Amino acid sequence: MTFSRMVRQAYSHPAWRQLCFRPMYPGVRQQQTAASLGDVAGMQISPLTVLSPEEEMMKDAVAKFASEQIAPLVSKMDGEGCIDEKVLKGMFENGFMGVEVGEEYGGCGSTFFISNLVIEELAKVDASISVTCDIQNTLINTLLINLGTQDQKNKYLPKLATEYTGSFCLSEVESGSDAFSMKTTAKRDGNNYIINGSKMWISSAPLSGIFLVMANAEPTAGYKGITCFLVDAGTPGLSIGKKEDKLGLRASSTCVVHFDNVVVPEENILGKFGHGYKYAIGMLNEGRIGIGAQMVGLAQGCLDATIPYLLQRKQFGRTIFDFQAMQHAVANLATEIEAARLLVYNAARLKEAGQPFIKQGAMAKLYSSEVATRVTSKCIELMGGVGFTKDYPIEKFYRDCKIGTIYEGTSHIQLNTIAKLIGQEYSS
Ligand SMILES: Cc1cc2nc3c(=O)[nH]c(=O)nc-3n(C[C@H](O)[C@H](O)[C@H](O)COP(=O)(O)OP(=O)(O)OC[C@H]3O[C@@H](n4cnc5c(N)ncnc54)[C@H](O)[C@@H]3O)c2cc1C
Repeated sequence: MTFSRMVRQAYSHPAWRQLCFRPMYPGVRQQQTAASLGDVAGMQISPLTVLSPEEEMMKDAVAKFASEQIAPLVSKMDGEGCIDEKVLKGMFENGFMGVEVGEEYGGCGSTFFISNLVIEELAKVDASISVTCDIQNTLINTLLINLGTQDQKNKYLPKLATEYTGSFCLSEVESGSDAFSMKTTAKRDGNNYIINGSKMWISSAPLSGIFLVMANAEPTAGYKGITCFLVDAGTPGLSIGKKEDKLGLRASSTCVVHFDNVVVPEENILGKFGHGYKYAIGMLNEGRIGIGAQMVGLAQGCLDATIPYLLQRKQFGRTIFDFQAMQHAVANLATEIEAARLLVYNAARLKEAGQPFIKQGAMAKLYSSEVATRVTSKCIELMGGVGFTKDYPIEKFYRDCKIGTIYEGTSHIQLNTIAKLIGQEYSS
């Protein structure tokens, strides 16, 4: 039995559901566990890090898969610059690529918070696998679940949950942070659209069966012409170009994708014509919580891989962990990771509760990516010379973390968002 099925089976038992979840306010699912409850003004409050049985089970299932199936192949995948087929197959078989996809489509029918737990657990072992899972769950599947017509859901969700990845195609050579200045166009031709242009930095492109392409279908309307199109891999005119030679996340392929007179029928528009910019903003607001989870997992994985060495390595007749300077460094790093985790969990729980979360999501991504940068750099220093070598995983964590301050909105862009929202709060 797969992990996801085990979780689903256990969780679907009515008695367990009743025990675990009790609705408190409309739209807010509060968890109740023996250890977690406080009672404030009639509202049940759980500490952020206390997990429901379903959350706990999924976390454990991912941790087991990551340590047994991914960990032995991390170095090989990093060296070869691609994801091992067995690992990817296992990710699908265990339901990790369709966490929120409904069971009727072959997914887990689970929650956004659990998607983030999965991303965090995977990143403790390999950030490349984690980002592949992150994009699938928080961008691709979510867009299809929220915006897809019944036909689009029937066609794509079962495959996204069990068979292939999807790619999110927004960025271009000249439009990065200023994403809506894109040059890719979609020109109407009868009942079809003809897409022309090139997208850059497209994650998982060689593995993907479907591309969610943002193209301007009415350039005279400016960003209000941007529309999201579903383009199947193999459509004539779609080709995968140069694969980037990157500092980190080397097993995750990042490629240029060309669209040369790619013809798609009108029914391949996802959502509404001209609403692509709204969907991209909305998805990235949610998606950056996932990047926060990835960075928290990565930082934790790095510290977890460092401490055993500190406890075993001896200098001056004592283990190096015996030196107070080392202990304080570890304590500071652990505190920063915990703070980042709380930001991420809070943003995810706010989103799930239907509360405003954009500021908290941007803060979570901003802070956790900075924490990951500090933790991985410091861990190399704590390890001494061996931390600088490929004999230990620390240097890979250090390389992998750097992307956290760049994709799904750079740190500057997160600061812009946070400052804008603070300005609005104080002026209203
Ligand atoms: C490994 C990887 C995977 C990626 N995956 C995808 C993917 O799957 N799909 C996709 O569409 N894209 C993807 N991207 C693209 C990614 O989202 C962009 O790289 C990112 O948005 C930044 O754009 P840019 O690289 O063009 O940098 P630029 O926008 O050129 O930024 C350069 C610098 O200018 C700063 N800057 C820009 N504007 C402002 C401003 N207004 N205020 C202050 N500072 C500013 C930035 O913060 C940054 O420091 C990926 C990128 C990488 C590296």
